[in-house]
Amino acid sequence: MPTQAPITQDVMTIPRKLPDGPVNLVGLTRDQLRETLISQGTPEKQAKMRVGQIWQWIYQWGVRDFAAMTNLSKTYRAALAEAFVIAVPEVVSKQVSTDGTRKYLVRIAGGHEVEVVYIPEEDRGTLCVSSQVGCTLTCSFCHTGTQKLVRNLTAGEIVGQIMVARDDLDEWPVPGAPKDETRLLSNIVLMGMGEPLYNFENVRDAMKIAMDPEGISLSRRRITLSTSGVVPEIARTAEEIGCLLAVSFHATTDEVRNGLVPINKRWNIETLLEALRAYPRLTNSERITFEYVMLDGVNDSDADARRLVRLIEGIPAKVNLIPFNEWPGAPYKRSSNNRIRAFADIIYKAGYASPIRTPRGEDILAACGQLKSATQRARKTRNEIAAEAGLPG
Ligand code: SAH
Ligand code: SF4
Repeated sequence: MPTQAPITQDVMTIPRKLPDGPVNLVGLTRDQLRETLISQGTPEKQAKMRVGQIWQWIYQWGVRDFAAMTNLSKTYRAALAEAFVIAVPEVVSKQVSTDGTRKYLVRIAGGHEVEVVYIPEEDRGTLCVSSQVGCTLTCSFCHTGTQKLVRNLTAGEIVGQIMVARDDLDEWPVPGAPKDETRLLSNIVLMGMGEPLYNFENVRDAMKIAMDPEGISLSRRRITLSTSGVVPEIARTAEEIGCLLAVSFHATTDEVRNGLVPINKRWNIETLLEALRAYPRLTNSERITFEYVMLDGVNDSDADARRLVRLIEGIPAKVNLIPFNEWPGAPYKRSSNNRIRAFADIIYKAGYASPIRTPRGEDILAACGQLKSATQRARKTRNEIAAEAGLPG
């Protein structure tokens, strides 16, 4: 098991050193990359142009080797290779579900592991990205929430998850390749492990690279950040990231929400809704996704559905109903299909889209909230193997 590090929510300082190694260029903002190049000896006058060139090689073409950056002089390429690396998380294992969902376990500095899930659908391919190892919050239905926060991911580790998925999908473009719509990896959701708004700067910097036309080049409308309701960071998300927003709503009274999403004790439903009302205006009238996990007998009555409709009145919204993904020892049960359909119907009739999310990748435990159990299972297996081989675990 990794040792518990203190909780940090600050930005990494520049330049971001790998432990005892050269500086990794992945995840630096354009400004940070510029400063880093200048500190290496790149003439200040050339720095801006070099940033653009290197940036495109890394994020547009997926190049990891300075020697392949053919529009730079040979001596400059050699100097870069001496000072820097282009490093992404290491893929430890990959599982492919019968429905095509792919789950990667990736290792980051310090030996920690996080999961990344790719979900292919007819009209899109969505990558579910993690922002923290574990989570400081303790939502009672979420398995990640039973694991303490180990640390925040760096911007490089967040954007690196997109890069390793593109490696695996073999989707680095060739000149003239199609854009967004037809890409295998066309959408990003920050719905993996962790609360993205408790790692704001790193998430922001990574998403800026994902949205940059010379970077991964995905439209901000194809990126959705999911928060449990960190109210003070919501307006900032609109202003500094500008992506779509999803909120883990899950209940219609403070009493029930306090028990499911404890951050509600800090910022209650009314305070949260106030912040959400302002969001579409700040980002140019986009719909907010209300995520609602269906828990048998807890939050799934007709009265709940009607209350939900009243609460979100006036907010351009869509309600995603998530059948609870059960995990061993979970204190809840999934609502019946009939109950979920009846709930969806009330919301739909009130004028809101209310899709019921089909659990994907169930055979490989890739569904929402199950990400922790899978990691532990993998660990246990390795320990078991070690034990069988007579090695220390
Ligand atoms: N921390 C962020 C994003 C990660 S969780 C947040 O809470 O929004 C992504 C979504 O999965 C959230 O809506 C979360 O509430 C939901 N989720 C967590 N555990 C779940 C489970 N066991 N079954 C169904 N949905 C779950
Ligand atoms: Fe953390 Fe989100 Fe899980 Fe809550 S639902 S414990 S905020 S990951």
